[in-house]
Amino acid sequence: MPNKYSVDKRFFSMYLNKIPGIVHRIYGAYLWRYNTQSPDLYLTFDDGPHPEITPWVLDQLKEFNARATFFVVGKNVQQYPEIVHRAIDEGHSIGNHSYSHLNGWDTDSSVYLKDFLRAQRSLVEYTGYHTRLFRPPYGKVKRDAAKRIMRTHKMVMMDVISGDFDLNNTGKDCQRIVIQHAKPGSIILLHDSDKAWDRLEYALPRLLRDLTAKGFQFLPIGEARAKAQAARLASSQ
Ligand SMILES: [Zn+2]
Repeated sequence: MPNKYSVDKRFFSMYLNKIPGIVHRIYGAYLWRYNTQSPDLYLTFDDGPHPEITPWVLDQLKEFNARATFFVVGKNVQQYPEIVHRAIDEGHSIGNHSYSHLNGWDTDSSVYLKDFLRAQRSLVEYTGYHTRLFRPPYGKVKRDAAKRIMRTHKMVMMDVISGDFDLNNTGKDCQRIVIQHAKPGSIILLHDSDKAWDRLEYALPRLLRDLTAKGFQFLPIGEARAKAQAARLASSQ
């Protein structure tokens, strides 16, 4: 058992677009994807809400009748709560992505947990939303902090990394990566952030179009369902 409840550094520093099966087995208590035969995909957007990009993402999703999950940063929620309200109203799920986007490996666990709780409080205070989903920034969280968070929250990872945060990629690369790796039940990582914008703007409408044409539908990560799936995965280790 590795000493950290996180993806091994190799996987994120080089990042693979498709997370290997061995990682799923090692970190079985985390949610990586859904085991399903039905053509469901779970788009996730990290680091918002952003005042222009998130509303644009919501418009794109609406056009394809797609629902998704937004892992929001607490300090952004305080600045733009109305955007989170809109996402909730339109049927999307919201997850906690910490208050100040800390790197869990470089941060003392007590500081990390305070930051997690602060994000949780911001969401409740500014939007009334009680999430039970958490995604650690950079996929990095120490084992003791992860254990504490998992008492109340499902740790949501992903099995397809679009690479929209990578300046070496083009939007077309991101489109190709996702189309190539998405399969029924996949959880797909995207970002509603300035850094990802150039690639997201190109890739998102095309992904929605191409994957819809292939018969996929896009669903939000359901909290009850996330828990049930994770329990099943853990018991099958
Ligand atoms: Zn992030």
